[in-house]
Amino acid sequence: MTSAVSLRDVSCVFRSAGKTVHAVAGIDLQVQAGEFFTLLGPSGSGKTTCLRMIGGFTLPTKGLISIHGQDVSQLPPYARPVNTVFQDYALFPHMSILDNVAYGLMVRGVDLSTREKKAQQLLDTVQLSEVGQRKPGQLSGGQRQRVALARALINAPRVLLLDEPLGALDLKLREQMQTELKSLQRQLGITFIFVTHDQHEALSMSDRIGVFNQGRLEQVATPSELYARPTTRFVAEFVGAANVLQGEQAHRYAAVQALMIRPECITLLWDSSETSTSQTMIHSAARLRARVQEAHFFGAFWRMHMQPEHGGAHLLVDVPVQSGQAAPPPGAMATLCWPNEAMHALKVD
Ligand code: ADP
Ligand code: MG
Repeated sequence: MTSAVSLRDVSCVFRSAGKTVHAVAGIDLQVQAGEFFTLLGPSGSGKTTCLRMIGGFTLPTKGLISIHGQDVSQLPPYARPVNTVFQDYALFPHMSILDNVAYGLMVRGVDLSTREKKAQQLLDTVQLSEVGQRKPGQLSGGQRQRVALARALINAPRVLLLDEPLGALDLKLREQMQTELKSLQRQLGITFIFVTHDQHEALSMSDRIGVFNQGRLEQVATPSELYARPTTRFVAEFVGAANVLQGEQAHRYAAVQALMIRPECITLLWDSSETSTSQTMIHSAARLRARVQEAHFFGAFWRMHMQPEHGGAHLLVDVPVQSGQAAPPPGAMATLCWPNEAMHALKVD
């Protein structure tokens, strides 16, 4: 596979009002051609700065950026084979949708009929064939988002950069656009570098994810690897819910400094139930007595906060909801058990 985008030891330092901000530090990253790659992290972790450096809107303080083998570190945005979709879409309000989409061809001097034909094709691709003559103000948020996408695709970029492109949409529409965007990317075969702070969005759309924390890349992995084998506490807790046991609490179960167990990997055996000698318990290496502190309903499961009998931090346990079943009341006692494979060692910093 060819590397579409490569960052080598890239850092970006901002100096504003006498203060120095290390926005991005020591990033090494290879994005493969045709990949849907997501930069995931909390607000302020350096995702946008990283994307802007790939797009050429911000120059790195240090390091090398290359796109399809060409060193672009010092090139302006228009000289790079990439295009960007920004969160606010940045459409021209006074121009028709067709002209908005065709804009990138107009500035290159492409003739009117060619660019209108191409723009119409892209409107067809994003399922907006009928709205070419309208103005941006006459479209819904989801439609404007698709126009922004069509506009960014008109110059046939080899790499498309998307900075939280679905952030302004409500949940239902966002989920619909996630599906559309993913299938469009497959259909076009373009490399997407996608920024989000939403772990669900990242997990469901990406081929691989890079997790940012305070300007650094903590881990790069496929969604399933990231979820099953996070290497640090930060990743474990940012991607999905996690029980992290440290020090004494961890030593009880394994010879490690810190370990993680996902809430759905723990089985609860209620004191009142008759299954206390079930298979689960016999085969489980680890067990712990705990009391219900709180129960939160998530639709498909109850997330139980369980307080260990002998102290320590509470553990989250996800219990599937059987139809119409009520949550066990606060105070109820249970035995928590989990197999050895459910425990994953974490690096301690
Ligand atoms: P994210 O997109 O993950 O929210 P950003 O890349 O926007 O993060 O920001 C990373 C850090 O760099 C933040 O602390 C932010 O305040 C700072 N930063 C970003 N752009 C600038 C700038 N132009 N000048 C000064 N500081 C900046
Ligand atoms: Mg950002």
